[in-house]
Amino acid sequence: MSERENSPHILVWLRNDLRLADNPALSAAIEAAGSGGSVTVAYILEEGGDLDVSARPLGAAARWWLHHSLDRLGASLRERGLELVLRRGDPFRTITDLMQETGATAVYWNRRYTNARQTDSTIMASLRETGRETGVEALSFHANYLNEPWAVQTGQGTPFRVFTPYWRACLALPEPRHPLPEPNWPATSQQQAQPQTLHSDDLASWNLLPTSPDWSGGLTASWQPGEAGAHEVLHQFITEGLANYHLRDNPAEPATSKLSPHLRFGEISPFHVWDAVRQARATSGSPQLATNAARFLSEVGWREFNASILFHFPGLTTRNVRPEFDAFPWSEPDPGLLEAWRRGRTGIPIIDAGMRELWHTGTMHNRVRMIVASFLVKNLLVDWRVGESWFWDTLVDADEASNPGNWQWVAGSGLDAAPYFRVFNPELQAQKFDPDGEYVRRWVPEVGTAGYPGPIVDLRETRAAALDAYSAMRSASGQS
Ligand code: FAD
Repeated sequence: MSERENSPHILVWLRNDLRLADNPALSAAIEAAGSGGSVTVAYILEEGGDLDVSARPLGAAARWWLHHSLDRLGASLRERGLELVLRRGDPFRTITDLMQETGATAVYWNRRYTNARQTDSTIMASLRETGRETGVEALSFHANYLNEPWAVQTGQGTPFRVFTPYWRACLALPEPRHPLPEPNWPATSQQQAQPQTLHSDDLASWNLLPTSPDWSGGLTASWQPGEAGAHEVLHQFITEGLANYHLRDNPAEPATSKLSPHLRFGEISPFHVWDAVRQARATSGSPQLATNAARFLSEVGWREFNASILFHFPGLTTRNVRPEFDAFPWSEPDPGLLEAWRRGRTGIPIIDAGMRELWHTGTMHNRVRMIVASFLVKNLLVDWRVGESWFWDTLVDADEASNPGNWQWVAGSGLDAAPYFRVFNPELQAQKFDPDGEYVRRWVPEVGTAGYPGPIVDLRETRAAALDAYSAMRSASGQS
């Protein structure tokens, strides 16, 4: 047998971890392959699955992001002598095909905690079963969250239902590890060892980008998808934003990190983010910066908490976590009102500003997300799932856990949620968080002119109706 036949040929299956640095599966594969083996890096556009066990099909803004992220990842790999292999279809069949085509002796991936983990478990079990005869190995790694959902539990061994004790328990664990550097790429033998004939789809053929019309101009102007862009954003936040993070609730201020889509697609790992904050805190010594850093890390903690909720409550996207909300008397959405909300034409300036920011840039400031979501589910009495799916389609950071988790938080139907009866008054929220109207004017320049309409609903009347609906739900579920 030649040395080549004895050497490991490892398939790395990338998913929401589109990065080279701090990518445990990739680093382990490069190391295991050594100088004689080979590594094939693949991304599968997973299609046609059942939501209970598969990745949720991406919305339009996230598809735009994915295209650019894969494009840049492909270029980075090529510079290092590897091709990114793109395939679409059922992941089980595609992985099996790729294993056969490459003659892979192992497949490595970083674990995910969404419902798609069931697909991963099936693939893992099958490969391990056949591996008993063929020697094929399947390994998964911890990469994309500081803590895996099962690693943080109450004293009774149950999942936390409330964020504050959850985060306290996380902080009591050993500090997160340091991020791994980019792997040590072996020289040309790696390149030669990769099968030359392996088919890769043309990224353009996946039609991830909008064409007619191409509405992505605002997204292009706002973002730089990819690992390099993610590190630039982190650097800028650490050097400029973190000191202003106490202003994070003011949407006009550039005080938050803008890391969410980069974290969503795994272009940067939370270990990298944690490490950068740890260093900034150590070098600054300022108590204000330490307070800001703790607050910022706790927001990263909300990302972890939502992932943990989805892990323990796989119905998060479609079902109320609190079953009493099944009796909530949502209104049949009035198409005109719903469209006014979607397009930012409600006549309520802060709502319109947020919805236009979303439409234009694929993101919205967190405070404003809460205000527009509260308006939809409380003042318009529209089921949170309707808003969640609009956000799913329009947000570049649309996340399988954080999007429904936050919608259920606002609606009151989630774990550790804001109580339903706490109805945000958008006008008071705007006075408090956008006191000079700077954010509103940025997105709604016609505000205050005759060209700007009055509110589509009366805030006071709709608030009262929301509270009545809440009482009706409580009566129906025997809680009053
Ligand atoms: P920063 O303030 O800099 O926070 C740092 C990181 O912490 C973020 O990048 C994000 O990864 C995480 N984070 C912050 N706040 C939250 C939160 N409330 N829940 C979960 N993670 C958080 N965030 C998403 O990443 N994807 C979503 O699909 C999403 N949908 C939302 C829907 C609604 C109705 C609401 C109210 C919030 C939603 N969020 C979502 C949370 C939050 O609005 C965004 O994470 C935040 O605005 C991103 O901006 P940033 O990166 O500048 O945040």
